[in-house]
Amino acid sequence: MFYHQVTITVAKRFRQPMLKKLAELGSLGSLEQERAVVSYFPSSVSAETLMKELQLTALLLKTAYEDAEIAVEMAQLPDADWNENWKNTFQPIEIGEHFIILPPWIAPPGERIPIIIDPGMAFGTGHHETTRSCLVLMERFVQNSVRDRFLDLGTGTGLLAIAALRLGFRSVVGVDTDPQAIRAALRNLVLNGAEKIELHEGTLEGESGGFSMIAANLISGTLIRNATGIASRLAVHGIAILSGILAGQEAEVEKAVGATGLQPIERLLDNKWITLAYRA
Ligand code: SAH
Repeated sequence: MFYHQVTITVAKRFRQPMLKKLAELGSLGSLEQERAVVSYFPSSVSAETLMKELQLTALLLKTAYEDAEIAVEMAQLPDADWNENWKNTFQPIEIGEHFIILPPWIAPPGERIPIIIDPGMAFGTGHHETTRSCLVLMERFVQNSVRDRFLDLGTGTGLLAIAALRLGFRSVVGVDTDPQAIRAALRNLVLNGAEKIELHEGTLEGESGGFSMIAANLISGTLIRNATGIASRLAVHGIAILSGILAGQEAEVEKAVGATGLQPIERLLDNKWITLAYRA
């Protein structure tokens, strides 16, 4: 099993005919990006036919509009494991009482807060226990929290940051050490119309304090190293949600965070993953 990934670099005003053509050719879905449209096809569609048809449409557009610049590229996405994730991520997933995570081409059903995530991404799609637990605790603790500044430490695809914005935080920052994560997050901000979120490539060191809530879905060792930094950046009565802790490793994290003076308020277990919440 594999999928064809078609990338058509084309200005927004010339997209309509291309999107129509992609649908006619049997696309599973198309993602609209700033400079390109990325569309996915099942392996049952012939690559040759696809390329021929799309180039023909491109040629027609170029003939009709002199300034239309269009490039069509195709790739196969063959990895079996990746495709398993891929298929799962096609399905909307409801999380907690309020959220639903969707790929861009499924219309949000309305009664839940939609978070749109490009499913072509390798990580942070909302299907991991730790992400789920963070969302569940965010929606729970936001009820008694000042919705001022929110920090998503290790933002990955930006999912928790987008959720925080939707929960009503005035200002949201996502930080990640990985430039690829920042790029992925940026794409998702655009898909969600959440460009107001600030993304910073780097570590906690670069952030000044005063956050009403900090979510950090990292791993135990990183949480321990950042415990003091997180505690010192919480506003009065601020909440820290710490996840990515494997069951059995929570004692060392609790010890490090406890030493900062933060008060434990919740411990969630989902499968073998622990999420801890603290109040300043
Ligand atoms: N917040 C998302 C993604 C978590 S994955 C979610 O809950 O689904 C963890 C992310 O943390 C990765 O993108 C990784 O690059 C980033 N990361 C790892 N160590 C970090 C550090 N010390 N500071 C900031 N980000 C870090």
